[in-house]
Amino acid sequence: MSAQVLRPYQSNAMEQVRERLRANVRRILLVAPTGSGKTSVAAAIIDGARAKGGAVLFLAHRRELIDQCSARLDGAGVDHGVIQAGHPRSLPGLPVQVASVQTLARRGLRPRATLIIVDEAHHARANTYEEILSRYGPDVPVLGLSATPWRLDGRGLGEMFQEVVVAARVRELIEQGHLVSYTGFAYDTPDLAQVRKTGADYNERGLELVMDGSKLAGNIVEQWLAHANGLRTVVFAVSIAHSMHLVERFRAAGVAAEHIDGEMPQGERTAILARLASGTTTVVSNVNVLTEGWDLPQLEVCVLARPTLSVGLYLQMVGRCLRPAPGKAIARIHDHAGNILAHGAPDADRDYSLDEDKPKANALPALRTCPDCFALYTGTSCPNCAHEDPVGIGEPRELPTESTEQVRAIPLEELRGQLHFPDAERDSYLNELLKTAAERGYKAGWAAHRFKSRYGHWPARRIA
Ligand SMILES: [Zn+2]
Repeated sequence: MSAQVLRPYQSNAMEQVRERLRANVRRILLVAPTGSGKTSVAAAIIDGARAKGGAVLFLAHRRELIDQCSARLDGAGVDHGVIQAGHPRSLPGLPVQVASVQTLARRGLRPRATLIIVDEAHHARANTYEEILSRYGPDVPVLGLSATPWRLDGRGLGEMFQEVVVAARVRELIEQGHLVSYTGFAYDTPDLAQVRKTGADYNERGLELVMDGSKLAGNIVEQWLAHANGLRTVVFAVSIAHSMHLVERFRAAGVAAEHIDGEMPQGERTAILARLASGTTTVVSNVNVLTEGWDLPQLEVCVLARPTLSVGLYLQMVGRCLRPAPGKAIARIHDHAGNILAHGAPDADRDYSLDEDKPKANALPALRTCPDCFALYTGTSCPNCAHEDPVGIGEPRELPTESTEQVRAIPLEELRGQLHFPDAERDSYLNELLKTAAERGYKAGWAAHRFKSRYGHWPARRIA
């Protein structure tokens, strides 16, 4: 049995799922943003199933995700076996099994299950998954878990699930301190009109031509040096060549930067990420490695150098830097790819409805770009540098037609100050800095400088 204490919204999500199961809904999608602790909710649901003598099959998608999923269940206190070719944790007698979809499909296995949980359900390819699920018949309930319930191929999950339970909203997680506040900066908004599409997203070579230009690449390093120097950073690049070029530029500026991609040996990848965690390396630029499953709460800056049409991929990228950590009051998103303007603020209220026929509310709250500091905001003055905008609030924008996301129009009152950091927060950040300074024997001036590099101004109170 797991012994975790659930947060109130987690208990609430668990109750909602149980209630829907009692109402005989057989296909439920639990939407739980990064940082909301979806495994804790799943663990509580698994406990409930086991208490009634049930067995749970936990389906995971790729080889790398099996071990991550297994480790998360261990963390939540759920004892389980793993079904995957050659995996050392083969314990077929246990009532909870984590299984590779590929292994089940290939071997035609049907482990006992009274509940099937599909991890990272946005990966669910209808054919393979449906074939496995069909082995159980229509009566065994299926619970999908996803932080970003949009498939990367642009299709919805409506063909697989009947109802959605939303565990938490990103804004709510920030307000409760489970995620940190952030500021997004639109340093570049590249013109992507000429970039062709491959599948549902931009063509990689086309993106490379736009994003690997020397002016844009130079600005990435320049803005980082000016505003984020020394802060642990992950860069999302378009291609291996693009990522390596960016790393070269960072290194030429004296920054400890490294490149990582999926074709490197696992040991080398682990070593690079360990150096980022220890602080030996400040910047890691990656291609499709650090979007999912990887977690470093101390990460403070996310540099978007990879435009995407996928709102799911966008949210996975920015989600990396929103985890809370001691001494971290705010995250910075350096957007050089036009992603925030294309997809909305990371904590914009999104419509997770599965109903494809529902008319799409294509209105996102109008984000302004500060002409002085490039911060994105929704009010009439920049929360980052206090630039006052004499013009009123803009009209809602049209979403790109390719976007599969449905966004609900929100009253502006609700959005005002969404990207605003209250004085209390600056104060608490300053207190954290002063504490760190005292612990490490630094002068108070260090804290003041660190504060200024973050907020662009000196602390309001004297800190002798
Ligand atoms: Zn500003």
